[in-house]
Amino acid sequence: MAIRQIRVQGDEILNKKSRIVKEITPRQEELIKDMIETMHDADGVGLAAPQVGVLRRIAVIDVGEGPIVLVNPEVIETSGEQTGQEGCLSVPGKVGIVTRPNYVKVKAFNEKMEEFEIEGEELLARALVHEIDHLDGHVYTEIVQGELMDVTYEEPEEEDEA
Ligand code: ZN
Repeated sequence: MAIRQIRVQGDEILNKKSRIVKEITPRQEELIKDMIETMHDADGVGLAAPQVGVLRRIAVIDVGEGPIVLVNPEVIETSGEQTGQEGCLSVPGKVGIVTRPNYVKVKAFNEKMEEFEIEGEELLARALVHEIDHLDGHVYTEIVQGELMDVTYEEPEEEDEA
């Protein structure tokens, strides 16, 4: 396994459409493992193959409940709306306000090419549509409401000097 370099905005690969995966080859198995490792290393909740320079319809998501592998994912149902902050590993240090569906149902294949469906609400719904957008060459900055904002980190508490 290896951590792959994450492409950042300005790299034209992020605006290209990814191709359907017909079978999982050893090379793609390795890609999936690397993507999970790269996402975790970068503290991200999702990563799509074009973000590591591969134009294949593969994405990984982990909203804190373990990694989900999505091969050829398709949104088959959405409902509701949520408006909130969104960030992207390809747009480091920035967040923006984006409106997404509050619920989505996605059909996909896993790393063994077994078909499954996954439903998500709130953060998982947001991550699902965000990653699937990447596979179509879209980055959230295209639909951001208002300006991008800098990520602000909380200042560490000052320690009392002893
Ligand atoms: Zn992203």
